[in-house]
Amino acid sequence: MNRGTLAPYAVTESISRGRHHAEPSPRERGEFQRDRDRIIHSTAFRRLEYKTQVFVNHEGDLFRTRLTHSLEVAQLSRSIARALGLNEELAEAVALAHDLGHTPFGHTGQDELNACMKAFGGFEHNLQSLRIVDMLEERYAAFDGLNLMFETREGILKHCSPANAQALGELGRRFIEGTRPSLEAQIVNLADEMAYINHDVDDGLRSELLSLEQLDAVTIFAQCRLDAEARWPGLTGRRLVHETVRRMIDALALDLINRTRTNIEKAGVETLDDVRATPTLAEYSGEMWSRLRELKTFLFNNLYRHERVMHMTGKARRIITDLFTAYMSDPDLLPPQHRAFAERSGKPRAVADYIAGMTDRYAMKEHRRLYGKSDPIRHQVT
Ligand code: MG
Repeated sequence: MNRGTLAPYAVTESISRGRHHAEPSPRERGEFQRDRDRIIHSTAFRRLEYKTQVFVNHEGDLFRTRLTHSLEVAQLSRSIARALGLNEELAEAVALAHDLGHTPFGHTGQDELNACMKAFGGFEHNLQSLRIVDMLEERYAAFDGLNLMFETREGILKHCSPANAQALGELGRRFIEGTRPSLEAQIVNLADEMAYINHDVDDGLRSELLSLEQLDAVTIFAQCRLDAEARWPGLTGRRLVHETVRRMIDALALDLINRTRTNIEKAGVETLDDVRATPTLAEYSGEMWSRLRELKTFLFNNLYRHERVMHMTGKARRIITDLFTAYMSDPDLLPPQHRAFAERSGKPRAVADYIAGMTDRYAMKEHRRLYGKSDPIRHQVT
């Protein structure tokens, strides 16, 4: 990356806190490019293809998975980072890694695994993403995990309980001291939400769980649809949806860039240390934030709690709980690598690591193998 184009408060290699295990500098690549490349080559990244965002992924080939979601977050993060003069490669690396720790079956899977792990320290997908890049990937001779740069790891860890923060040492310190992560990390956090809200609208319409008429009750959607129809009179169907959604993304990204730029100027931020010491700088304007909240509430009530999604949720819960119960009562059912993890991290954590790493379809297959019943989800989808 050409340092001449970076803002003075961007993260650079020269001010980075570096890697836990010292390594020779890469040739013909920057350190944050290397992080991005390591993430893309990881096992956990490939598995995102078969993990659900909202819809179980064999419902149709047209819906987003965690892989395409992560790519969309990376695209938005890079565009916004570049507009603000931030380190685009760091933003990209954080975005590609942000969902690595997600369980099968979307948020349902995470909630259920957290319930199973209640007596053993809980389960949190965000912390799990860090655990994967710090410990669980087995690819390098010299260390466990991917040995990523401090700032990449910092960006992956969006939130953290005080107890976990203590255990994480330097990386957890900001949660105890109340300081902020880099602007690159702040941007990815918002790009994540921006991506899923817009692709859930798109997938919701495509699956016909949502209708255009319903969405017209949401201010930002109605405004962008009117704008699209004014530019392209008579436009209907998928093209109308895309012309509307692309306008929503554009409006959100531009608002975020402008507001963040203003915040940086107003706060007189000049260095990365200033960024860390200042209240969160990356944000939407008040007006855009209330429109976004309106859309999120709409999606929560009409899509995430749609009876078809909820029905799937019940089945997914059962699979996660059944798998957890089976491995806890007979750890010999775990593959050798995870039995070795059990010696190091304790049985419950090793079981959670194993289940969290599964794709939706692998979890269903494993459930069928252990319980000998027909797949509770597949029979539901017609
Ligand atoms: Mg995400």
